[in-house]
Amino acid sequence: AAKDLKSYENRETITPDGHPVTLYVNTGLMIDVVRGVQRGAQGVGLYRSEIPFMLRERFPGEEEQRIIYRQQLSHFANKPVVMRTLDIGADKDLPYFSIKEENSALGWRGIRFTLDHPEIFSSQIRAMLKASIGLNNLHILLPMVTSVTEVEEALYLLYRSLAEVQEEEQVKIAMPKVGVMIEVPSILLQMRDLAELVDFFSVGSNDLTQYLLAVDRNNPRVAGLYSSYHPAVLRALNFLVREAHHLNKPISICGEMAGEPTTAILMMAMGFNVLSMSSSNILRIRKTLSHVPLADAKSLLHEVLKMDSAPVIKSWLEHYLIKQG
Ligand code: PEP
Ligand code: MG
Repeated sequence: AAKDLKSYENRETITPDGHPVTLYVNTGLMIDVVRGVQRGAQGVGLYRSEIPFMLRERFPGEEEQRIIYRQQLSHFANKPVVMRTLDIGADKDLPYFSIKEENSALGWRGIRFTLDHPEIFSSQIRAMLKASIGLNNLHILLPMVTSVTEVEEALYLLYRSLAEVQEEEQVKIAMPKVGVMIEVPSILLQMRDLAELVDFFSVGSNDLTQYLLAVDRNNPRVAGLYSSYHPAVLRALNFLVREAHHLNKPISICGEMAGEPTTAILMMAMGFNVLSMSSSNILRIRKTLSHVPLADAKSLLHEVLKMDSAPVIKSWLEHYLIKQG
């Protein structure tokens, strides 16, 4: 099977009825970048910038960060690299900055944390901007956004950092494209407001599923209730793609649903502009999508959106794939 998958390296992803699908890679370490390039990812859809922070014994300084980010950006020169700002919280904490909370999923996480620590946010943004000089492929993604004001504050800090870095380095740096992660359900009802502020959207379906279903993604007692096939999750995603496109904004998905064959088919059918996944899933997703005509995927989606049970949806999709070979 590994050999069979090897033939899917370094090629485009095209459905049997001729529709190209854009696959990006999710990264954190350099190995993900190397594998992503090797497997023909067309960009980085999610660089989890907290990963290098988690592997250190103290906050990395600005220059240390610049070097790390430069490596990520330069391996994908001429292709988009979406760097997410620090996404930590009590469930993803740093060895040198412990956050203890009873209700970590609803607590001090992602942008909530960095806006309370603008010095951490700004040093990260400055390092990203410096790393992008001459490459111009940097995109910035804001995690765990709940409200418009958070985005306004982040943009204020970003513009300020951009002006500072241009002044210090005496170069003109293009303003990176900025995107919002859709992880908190409140965003479903604020797409129009946010579209006025940002360039793109990216769905973090891991967290969006947790918050839509009120199921802790790390609690084994309720793990059975956490399902990507839940009708509300699928209908929310379908709504989001329509809404984003109605507002003329690209929308990607970078949660695990993009890297799972059954759900990747649905994501393609919904019309996501980009599916971004772990490097270990790229080849099997390319293989799956190379065998599923977009027209079939659309009729599957049409049927699935009418169904009311997660297990039925799941087995229905699995069945289709088995039939497909
Ligand atoms: C997500 O929530 O789907 C996501 C991609 O972010 P993370 O898994 O890093 O929380
Ligand atoms: Mg998340």
